[in-house]
Amino acid sequence: MEYIRIIDSKDYVEQKVQIKGWVANKRSSGKIAFLQLRDGSAYFQGVALKSQLGEALFDAITHLNQETAVEVVGTIQEDGRSKFGYEIHIEDLKVLGDSVDYPITPKAHGTDFLMDHRHLWLRSSKQHAIMQIRNEIIHATFEFFYERGFVKIDAPILTGVAGENTTDLFEVDYFGDNAYLGQTGQLYAEAGAMAFGKVFTYGPTFRAEKSKTRRHLTEFWMIEPEIAFCDHEDSLKLQEEYVAYLIQHVLDHCDYALDVLGRDREVLKRYTQLPFPRITYDEAIEMLQKADFDVEWGADFGSPEETYIAEHFEKPVFIMNYPKAIKAFYMKDHPDRDDVVLCADLIAPEGYGEIIGGSERETDYDILREKIINFGLNPDDYDWYLDLRRYGSVPHSGFGLGLDRFVTWVTGNKHIRESIPFPRLLNRLYP
Ligand code: ATP
Ligand code: MG
Repeated sequence: MEYIRIIDSKDYVEQKVQIKGWVANKRSSGKIAFLQLRDGSAYFQGVALKSQLGEALFDAITHLNQETAVEVVGTIQEDGRSKFGYEIHIEDLKVLGDSVDYPITPKAHGTDFLMDHRHLWLRSSKQHAIMQIRNEIIHATFEFFYERGFVKIDAPILTGVAGENTTDLFEVDYFGDNAYLGQTGQLYAEAGAMAFGKVFTYGPTFRAEKSKTRRHLTEFWMIEPEIAFCDHEDSLKLQEEYVAYLIQHVLDHCDYALDVLGRDREVLKRYTQLPFPRITYDEAIEMLQKADFDVEWGADFGSPEETYIAEHFEKPVFIMNYPKAIKAFYMKDHPDRDDVVLCADLIAPEGYGEIIGGSERETDYDILREKIINFGLNPDDYDWYLDLRRYGSVPHSGFGLGLDRFVTWVTGNKHIRESIPFPRLLNRLYP
């Protein structure tokens, strides 16, 4: 008899198999019991009949506690009434590990309670669905870049200087010196692009964001492609292609998870239609001012502004060419204007905000050095980075996609904290 995972049930209809998992829920009447079983791959129903199992085993089954670990032997049957489509008719059951007073019961719990029990909450079907989609997006990311000849490189997490800005750095003691947790892998990705042509990083990034928003974690995962001989226009095309690819991958591989989450596939399908609309920062300011937003040219956009702009489009929208002063030091000046840079933020629809920030990078040694100084940074700290402009500098561009925020959007969840297994927030470091 074969030990199978629940997800593979479709290949074992009418066959006797063994399942190992946990009892997520149960209900029973005098003669029949239904166990909601999960094994990490999926959830399905186990049916136990008193007439078949005998009094003692049936009685034990009706007394199983929630989250008891069990080994089940039975026959897989089609089950037209469930979304999953299959169930197991139990012939034998053995307890592997009991579970007494499992804290998360089928009744509703508050978010704080659930977050305090995040290590257990991950077992529930909605969290399972979100993590499956997250996993597929990570998988599709590696596939997308691998197919296009990119090399995955690993940026360091401990750094000596700021990568993005000096305000939200996490400082750590490094043998008596200061070190910082990386806010971005980008500067290292640029070195990678000069070595391998096309690279991407994927790793955790850290920002001491002191605000409590639905979109910010203090530790989040970013995917940062960086491409040599690539201008801003080429980069925008790659960005929309990548986003459409990820959404299509989720549509193709996450059917069950999308059902559990109740995510509308028609809405997601819209996001696979290219190209995405583009507006300039100047146009965005004009739109906002017409709608009586209190914003002047030069201001950065917050969540209400981004949401308002996104509402005018059916798909993610690029906002291009932001003022120099509110963007990072490494961005290249616009060729026709000295007040804006060659950059774009990709704003997701439905109020999810910025999912990608990207730009063409400054290639000229002298200009870059001056920009570093103008941003109040010490050029000596960036000497290695300036080397990239000393030795064979070429046009290059790149961008960063925030994985957790992207997952929040695709799953249609309200808050980013459920998009990562163990969220780190201003007021949360446990579990
Ligand atoms: P925001 O304005 O929303 O704070 P940002 O301009 O600081 O974003 P970038 O520095 O361009 O963002 O980072 C690239 C991407 O990383 C963003 O588009 C977003 O998807 C994601 N991101 C940035 N900060 C966070 C955070 N604190 N938590 C989760 N994701 C984030
Ligand atoms: Mg930010």
